[in-house]
Amino acid sequence: MNRPDYYEVLGVERSASQDEIKAAFRKLARQYHPDVNKDDPQAEERFKLINEAYQVLSDPESRAVYDRFGHAGSQSAPTADPFGMAENLFQMFFGGGAGVATRGPVDGADRRADVSITLEQVLHGATLTVDVERLRLCACCKGVGAEPGTTPERCPDCAGSGRVRFTQTTILGTVTRVVPCERCHGEGEIIRTPCRECRGEKLVQQRDAVTVAIPPGIENETAILLRGEGDSGLRGGRDGDLYVVVHIAPHPRFRRRGDDLATQVNLTYPQLALGDEVELETLDGKTTLEIPELTEPYSELIIPGRGLPNPRTGRRGDLYVRIGLKMPKKLTDAQRNLLRQYAELSGVRLKKYAGAEPTSFFEKVKRSVKKED
Ligand SMILES: [Zn+2]
Ligand SMILES: [Zn+2]
Repeated sequence: MNRPDYYEVLGVERSASQDEIKAAFRKLARQYHPDVNKDDPQAEERFKLINEAYQVLSDPESRAVYDRFGHAGSQSAPTADPFGMAENLFQMFFGGGAGVATRGPVDGADRRADVSITLEQVLHGATLTVDVERLRLCACCKGVGAEPGTTPERCPDCAGSGRVRFTQTTILGTVTRVVPCERCHGEGEIIRTPCRECRGEKLVQQRDAVTVAIPPGIENETAILLRGEGDSGLRGGRDGDLYVVVHIAPHPRFRRRGDDLATQVNLTYPQLALGDEVELETLDGKTTLEIPELTEPYSELIIPGRGLPNPRTGRRGDLYVRIGLKMPKKLTDAQRNLLRQYAELSGVRLKKYAGAEPTSFFEKVKRSVKKED
């Protein structure tokens, strides 16, 4: 059999690179494709030959065999898998099925919103509204995409299925593929009068106030999941979810320690030394705090059950009160003298008053004793 040289068929040098071979094949295949040359009976033969040459030369192994043994070798050379070849051709001429967007069900995207709450709201729980930017089904056309009063028409090309069978004749026979319908983009319907609100898109970007219930005792940065409150799904896809991330704002007087709360009160030295009862503001109302005699400064007193509720058990934690020492801004002479006397009675020798006159304290005591005589 006198068969033409494959390199001549493709019009390339024997040293041509794979890219050059591919480019030459593409060019010729377009030129001699039977669909393009319906009236030329030679075209189909030529097309077959071009394919054959390409199948051999595009594979380095079969090309090497062909280079050594010519057509005799190529007969025994591994042949390309017929389906792969058909696939190859299909993609070459039609960009491949994957290139056409399919329009199956589309799930709505999840959305996130952030909300800031106070410690008081952590204590009692709260119901809030949060603004969410999201894509929802158009309220005007109810997600149909057609102007109200009109209805989408069933696509005549695919009879509403959104898919068409595509039959392509190749040298290997007939290849049938199911591809998305081009006319309706796989929707199965044609909208002649698009909705003026969404312009036929069925979804509109909108800002909605969504209600979220914050349970008591929630931890900082907790995300509350609201199912279906994200973007709307399309064509039977599910609606996305909304995650509301809860941030607890710092409180001017209370800090959180798990279920417990911590605060600080500053008291004077006599209150710590002698003990006292003070009124204390808690997160939920006033309470009386008993300061025992000789309370150490910077110690903590505990008020049970005045913390935050545990998110699982609801049981409230405790309130820890740190006792600070409050100093006066200035001293009167009388206060200074009394403090010096207190120091003397406590056996505290103050350097500052080492050379000074003793306070009149003992003199007064002596005098008062004399008066009683
Ligand atoms: Zn609409
Ligand atoms: Zn269609």
